[in-house]
Amino acid sequence: MSKLVIVGTVAFDAIETPFGKTDKILGGAATFIGLAASQFNVDAAIVSVVGGDFPQEYLDLLANKNLDITGVEIINEGKTFFWSGKYHNDMNTRDTLATELNVLADFNPVVPENYKNADVVMLGNLHPLVQMGVLEQMNKKPKMVILDTMNFWMDCALEELKAVIKKVDVITINDEEARQLTGEYSLVVAAQKIHEMGPKYVVIKKGEHGALLFHGENVFFAPALPLREVFDPTGAGDTFAGGFAGYLAKTEDYSFENMKNAVIYGSTLASFCVEKFGTERMKHLEDKEVYQRLSQFKQLTQFEIVLENHQ
Ligand code: AMP
Repeated sequence: MSKLVIVGTVAFDAIETPFGKTDKILGGAATFIGLAASQFNVDAAIVSVVGGDFPQEYLDLLANKNLDITGVEIINEGKTFFWSGKYHNDMNTRDTLATELNVLADFNPVVPENYKNADVVMLGNLHPLVQMGVLEQMNKKPKMVILDTMNFWMDCALEELKAVIKKVDVITINDEEARQLTGEYSLVVAAQKIHEMGPKYVVIKKGEHGALLFHGENVFFAPALPLREVFDPTGAGDTFAGGFAGYLAKTEDYSFENMKNAVIYGSTLASFCVEKFGTERMKHLEDKEVYQRLSQFKQLTQFEIVLENHQ
């Protein structure tokens, strides 16, 4: 089992969906990634920053999931990163209402000494300079570096983002962001252009329409599970990334074939995340529920066509 380093925001979110509204609740890219990765019992550490306003109970929640939080800096006189968003009726698109960087504005990440040799690094969504800062602290070249980002950083730190994209093995990005990054409408062409920027593997997330994994000429597609209830999509992308990274860290097999399974695990965990507000569902997720959903996934995507008859 490999060690996993996760960097990303640990945040307060305020969310509005057609089904309800929350005040400031626990959110952040690293929070969702960590909760998903903890499902695999891997040795994982979060590198992030919060303010003095961040409740101890939230830190305890992460620590109780066996996530190492010694790399989560607390700036007592500062305020925690805050994000607020409102979902449209289709739940696939949202408007960002507020992004307050607060303590994230001057964050210098510190990777705990005993994680500097980790084989898997998950660069979750935050400033690309911070993502780069984490990579630079690793003692040896990790076997797998995965990067997730969003339009916010394309708008305000594109050159820094391109510099870090150059150094990663896998990028996970949503369809709109892939189009924004490359200027291409076709996701196949966009993936090709992203390959040329550095990553050998490109995962394009399409919300309720599933995810695509590209590696050179190879393409794999996983649908999202059709769900009875979608309550709040916040964190689904991060949960997907956390499931993907956690599975690779656990299996230590970084081949394209195994990455297909990582995509299925990522999609499965994301399907839980959206069922309740914020982290509510992921907090209490049990192994047997994951197992059941994986088998549903298998049934959903399995079919037997006899190809010989068509030759
Ligand atoms: P997702 O729905 O997977 O795209 O992720 C939503 C999470 O990302 C929320 O919990 C936010 O706190 C966090 N987030 C929103 N905007 C940013 C940003 N610009 N940088 C880092 N994290 C962000």
